Amino acid sequence: MSQTIALYPGSFDPFHNGHLEIVERAAALFDTVVVAAVRNPQKSNPLFTMEERQSMIAESVAHLSNVSIVSISTLVVVVAQQVGAQVIIRGLRAVSDFENELQMAQMNNKLSGIETLFIPTSSKYSFLASKLLREVSAYGGSVTDLVPPPVSKKLDEKFPRPNE
Ligand code: ADP
Repeated sequence: MSQTIALYPGSFDPFHNGHLEIVERAAALFDTVVVAAVRNPQKSNPLFTMEERQSMIAESVAHLSNVSIVSISTLVVVVAQQVGAQVIIRGLRAVSDFENELQMAQMNNKLSGIETLFIPTSSKYSFLASKLLREVSAYGGSVTDLVPPPVSKKLDEKFPRPNE
């Protein structure tokens, strides 16, 4: 039987526990999961470079033997074809995510025939968003419990907090 491969694309700026949970659940469903850090043209002024994001994700998923990481600046469907993925994985937090995600899934299907699989986040992470984490960190708040340790370390380097 052929290997099942899923592509999980996202900006991951930065990668957080909600993303990690989706990767872990996808890794249990597919032979291989490829996490792709994407440059999203709709999201300007990224906090971390593509290289920083890729290395933080790699450290954060090191415990999962069937997960690999790529960083991309081309169409997601092209990367899916390059890595041999049959499915694109996207996480859903709330109904508000759905409209945009549905449109993207339909466009990707139209472009290449690829299917998108939505994995709903568990309720403990449904409020988590990279944008919020960037804001909280920039104003000195601690997000240690919300991100994997390699990401927490990088955020602390970027935004040193007094008294630490
Ligand atoms: P993008 O710019 O592609 O939306 P993000 O890094 O914001 O990149 O999100 C990547 C993927 O992870 C998307 O499918 C998004 O819906 C999902 N995601 C974001 N936050 C969470 C969360 N808290 N729980 C589960 N999935 C999430």
